[in-house]
Amino acid sequence: MKTDPHTAKETAKRRTFAIISHPDAGKTTLTEKLLLFGGAIQQAGAVKSRKTERKATSDFLSIEQERGISVSSSVMKFNYKGFEINLLDTPGHKDFSEDTYRVLTAVDCAVMIIDSARGVEPQTRKLMEVCRMRNTPIITFINKLDREGMEPLDLFADIEEKLQIECTPITWPIGMGKRFRGVYHLDTKQLGLFSPGYSPRDGDGVVIDNLDDPILDRELGEQARELRDDVDLIQGAADPFDMDYYLKGSQTPVFFGSAINNFGVREMLDSFVQMAPPPGVRQTLTREVKPEEPGFSGFTFKIQANMDPAHRDRIAFFRICSGKFKRGMKVRHHRIGKDVIISNATIFMAQERSNVDEAFPGDIIGIHNHGTIKIGDTFTEKEELKFTGIPSFAPEHFRRVILKNPMKTKALQKGLTQLAEEGTIQVFRPRINNDYIMGAVGVLQFDVTMARLKAEYGVDAGSEPVDLSVARWITCDNEEMKKKFINQNAGSIAVDSEGWVAFLTTSEYQLGFAMEAWPDIQFHKTREYN
Ligand code: GDP
Repeated sequence: MKTDPHTAKETAKRRTFAIISHPDAGKTTLTEKLLLFGGAIQQAGAVKSRKTERKATSDFLSIEQERGISVSSSVMKFNYKGFEINLLDTPGHKDFSEDTYRVLTAVDCAVMIIDSARGVEPQTRKLMEVCRMRNTPIITFINKLDREGMEPLDLFADIEEKLQIECTPITWPIGMGKRFRGVYHLDTKQLGLFSPGYSPRDGDGVVIDNLDDPILDRELGEQARELRDDVDLIQGAADPFDMDYYLKGSQTPVFFGSAINNFGVREMLDSFVQMAPPPGVRQTLTREVKPEEPGFSGFTFKIQANMDPAHRDRIAFFRICSGKFKRGMKVRHHRIGKDVIISNATIFMAQERSNVDEAFPGDIIGIHNHGTIKIGDTFTEKEELKFTGIPSFAPEHFRRVILKNPMKTKALQKGLTQLAEEGTIQVFRPRINNDYIMGAVGVLQFDVTMARLKAEYGVDAGSEPVDLSVARWITCDNEEMKKKFINQNAGSIAVDSEGWVAFLTTSEYQLGFAMEAWPDIQFHKTREYN
């Protein structure tokens, strides 16, 4: 059965994406320009780079207050050319955490920003690895062309080598740094001329019939010949855009520009709304869910503690996968097997949050709760389903919890369990002792955990470094073999908060050693939530 025509129409308009980049590549700047084009904000400077606001701090209140500011920008909604676009924030810098990875499981496509001088950087690599898990389509924006950078073809080679994705140019830059003159759109044959602070409107850009057009020489002088040579070269050498290949995440269309100068952004956004796929099919334990199905369904991918610690108030970020959400609707909370009424859902706008009456596949709603919702939880209107592919990611930083008051062991256990369910931190219990080992993808999470343990659970705890840097969840088809592995590696075995067995070790080298010695054991970088 199909959904009603209104829901189908709304769904077809949704584009839900995230930006992947390394800190300082220009994510904040580009986000702001996109929101300006979308009319979601009125002036530049409205989206603050959070790195300047936020310091690493263990002071609970300041973390929470700053987080209060950031909640509303976790999802930014804007409208462009009839499309309803949801941009999900991927926190970077000090905020970098598992959430940054997990957000990528809730989008249908991603825009990758590369700094033209720096090429592919480590954080981009890591985020790309996550995109690969679902073969998320990637659109690339090469930024900072107003500065001296790498040659375009060298950037392509860098991306292709480090990220294993083929590049296909949609626009092509004319010079760079002081000689940057603009971008040439290879399809529309529009020439966008650059001047610092440029603010293009629709219809801007010089249209030329072909590259021999004398306008080119008039506008570009000697650089006209360079452009002709470049275009000759790439049309012979570069792979043509292939929609199927791109939708499978095997090829990325590439745009060039300068976000700070608002240049090349419009070209990218115009193509984005055409190329970015509408909400797609999602996998559950039992079957695929199509967005056009009539029954409401979706999953939680992020939990944010609210401002007031006394109330244990939480917002669960929920991605709608099918059907229509209506305020006050009754849905099934799969994990706890209960029906709940969602009366108080919030939809996120760029600058404010507002109550929603209805929302559609691709939209993100925020559901208020008091700790009953966990990451990965599924809500459905009719059938019982459990969405998969919203995993926990192997931590890269570890610390041992030091409890200052032994009377508080129970409270510590409760607090750590709940914080693990919210995805704030991961908690491992080693097989050979009673330690609590915290694992995180970004180190700020340790401070957040300690501060929240104190404020919400009354537990005064500290932490100390441990000699660990790699974790993998292990499985094996052969139970006997698994037992043998666990016994022979007892010092490196721990169980996480959901009962999954993990192998913790000091280095990738040690991991490689174990993998070689135990070919029947599978070592996983992710695990699903129960
Ligand atoms: P984020 O860390 O990825 O969010 O990066 P920001 O958007 O905060 O940008 C990092 C720095 O690069 C800031 O100082 C920006 O002003 C600067 N920047 C962003 N886009 C451009 C650009 O197109 N050209 C130049 N020269 N600088 C840029």
